[in-house]
Amino acid sequence: MDLDVRRNPALLKLDLYCKGMRIDDSCLVEQDGGRKVLRTRAGLGSGLEVVLPGGLWTNVPVAESFAQSSPYVLHRKDGSYVLHLQGEPVATLELAPRPAWYDRKTTTGKPMTRIGTLQGTYLGVYPAKVCEYWTEKPQKANCKFCSVGLNLGVDDADEKSIGEVIEVVRAAREESGLTYVDFNTGHYDGDTYLDILEPYIRRIKQETGILVGVQTPPHHDLRRYDALRELGVNRVSFCFEIFDPRLFEEICPGKHREYGLQRYLDAVAYCATLGRKGPRHEPWVTNGEIIAGLEPPESTIRAIDWITSVGAIPTVCVFRPLAGTDYAEMPPPQTEPLVPVFRRLYEACMERGLPIGVAPNIHVSLVLLPDECRSLSDRHFPLRALQLKLMGHAARAMVGRNVRAATRSSARP
Ligand code: SF4
Repeated sequence: MDLDVRRNPALLKLDLYCKGMRIDDSCLVEQDGGRKVLRTRAGLGSGLEVVLPGGLWTNVPVAESFAQSSPYVLHRKDGSYVLHLQGEPVATLELAPRPAWYDRKTTTGKPMTRIGTLQGTYLGVYPAKVCEYWTEKPQKANCKFCSVGLNLGVDDADEKSIGEVIEVVRAAREESGLTYVDFNTGHYDGDTYLDILEPYIRRIKQETGILVGVQTPPHHDLRRYDALRELGVNRVSFCFEIFDPRLFEEICPGKHREYGLQRYLDAVAYCATLGRKGPRHEPWVTNGEIIAGLEPPESTIRAIDWITSVGAIPTVCVFRPLAGTDYAEMPPPQTEPLVPVFRRLYEACMERGLPIGVAPNIHVSLVLLPDECRSLSDRHFPLRALQLKLMGHAARAMVGRNVRAATRSSARP
């Protein structure tokens, strides 16, 4: 395996998550069409959105204190953005383009970026009020790494009507080639998150036909996921974050009290079986989401092995000590111990024959995706790689058909 970040884009993406980057005064990010650094979405990332060599979209930490002493510095030279490591150029980056709709308002007068923003190339929407762990009295029960309660009402609008979300989805589809929208909620008393999301999902599927994902706590009634599958939802994701039960309790006190780790695992395992059911023209993926850097790498690897063993795909974030959070003063993880974690992520998915890297035009900036980790492994899976390529063609065709069908039927008087 080539361990030089100049030739290994996955390693560069991982290293940038761990070390962050400084931005030299020569850079003119917004004037050059890049995206403004927004406060974090969904609790884990806030940074500069760039595209690394190899087409790896990345959200690079620039605002946190650890990034101020990063060995990486971004310079602008002759209109290009060149990343330097300890003074030596290592890669030319592209700024993730800021779409024109970022500067527009909905017909109700709200800035479109307060309804949803692009994270890489997909649209992230946090449609409801803040996660209730943040508002508990006398003591909050939020996850210690999370910044959602610091963020809402700053860059996000508190209330987002279905009409407003549809308007932004349409703008992003037409102008940014959007293929996927991801809904995210925190915890609400009474397990109401799916009741809140379903009307949004129904309208988006009917009117646009694009891929839709849902990331919420695990509902106590697992049959609700059969209903989501029927509705045409394409992805469900459960963020249990930490696989070590003792650390889970310490880091995620609200999740531990309300659900417990086992309920998360049960929901992942149950939903992973639903691919065989439901509308055949709608792809279906189940994700278990974890954070690398808050528990020993061996424990994260055990989580990866468990998630893939039930037929789900791990989403592995790198811990980022965000300003203002309970863990703001913690150091970010070191790169080297995380390399085996992301190597295992790729190899476990390939060994189990899971459908990675097949979704059309979806680039994710906040995590290192399993297929992006190919260059962290010396193992080759030629037959599987060919199958994935064919699945990618089929998925593109399927989504194209769904979008055309929805567009035709929503255009009818
Ligand atoms: S459940 Fe935890 S990670 Fe999710 S929004 Fe609430 S506090 Fe943040």
